[in-house]
Amino acid sequence: MEWIAAVSEAGLNVSNAAGTLFVVATPIGNLADFTLRARATLAEVDWIAAEDTRHTRKLLAHYGIHTPMVSLHRHNEERRSQELVQRLRDGDQGALVADAGTPLIRDPGYVLVRAAAAAGVQVSPVPGPCAAIAALSVSGLPADRFFFAGFLPAKGAARRARLQELAVLPVTLVFYEAAHRVCEALADFEVVLGPARPMVLARELTKRHETLLRGSIATVAARVRRDPEQRLGEFVLVVGAAPPPDAEAIPAEAERLLHMALAELPPRRAASLVSAFTGLPRNRLYALALRLQGQAPDHD
Ligand code: SAM
Repeated sequence: MEWIAAVSEAGLNVSNAAGTLFVVATPIGNLADFTLRARATLAEVDWIAAEDTRHTRKLLAHYGIHTPMVSLHRHNEERRSQELVQRLRDGDQGALVADAGTPLIRDPGYVLVRAAAAAGVQVSPVPGPCAAIAALSVSGLPADRFFFAGFLPAKGAARRARLQELAVLPVTLVFYEAAHRVCEALADFEVVLGPARPMVLARELTKRHETLLRGSIATVAARVRRDPEQRLGEFVLVVGAAPPPDAEAIPAEAERLLHMALAELPPRRAASLVSAFTGLPRNRLYALALRLQGQAPDHD
């Protein structure tokens, strides 16, 4: 079949080309991160279901791809998915894309993929960029086990409640966050997860202003608070796992006290003060004070 031949040139290995839904990743900022197979697939299918057709049209035009598009977004997802699954069952080749990155990963598409799978239609991934995975891969935090938490709730109380649930997980946490809420989210990280956990703020990945801020939650939050440029663009926040249970662990309350003391005092004096106040060992508080200030390796 001509269709298979064209896509095969790009390295595809399609065994059954009839009625397949391809789930295709697109760039998250750098146009060059558009795989050969993604482009070939999008050029050859009968239609592309896109979150925002105007946005995707610009990307496709750049590559001379003129495949018809249908919109698939949160408001029409149920109805449109039924129509598209019927077309796939009738033998159409279709593709699903999001505005950026991998469809379904905090983007529409779940309803369509679920319906296609339920109808026995073949669903095939054309993998590529994903901001969460890109951030995790450069974070320097353990990536063997992680929890993708998506976006936190917009309202403060709900956000802190969600963080409380996540605070105990013994795996790396990955969040998406909007620029206008990044300061609030970091402030809540300090309160709920504690200021000492290691974290990485991954900003504008694959773009001109790509920046990785590494440190404790406290040092990253302070940097973002004092530098408005660090609040611009798109963000993934990667946070170290809950520390293993430790009988000698410093309670979160004492950690917060130490963090406040450090705003006024050098680490040694802050540790002595909190030790006098809480009865906790001064040397452990001093080690924690150094970590909070980013002067010593963080625990993981
Ligand atoms: N489906 C996309 C993916 O695979 O990454 C994610 C879509 S979600 C609606 C958009 C969020 O992803 C942004 O608010 C930001 O948190 C994150 N994001 C997307 N592109 C990014 C980039 N280039 N750098 C950092 N974060 C990014």
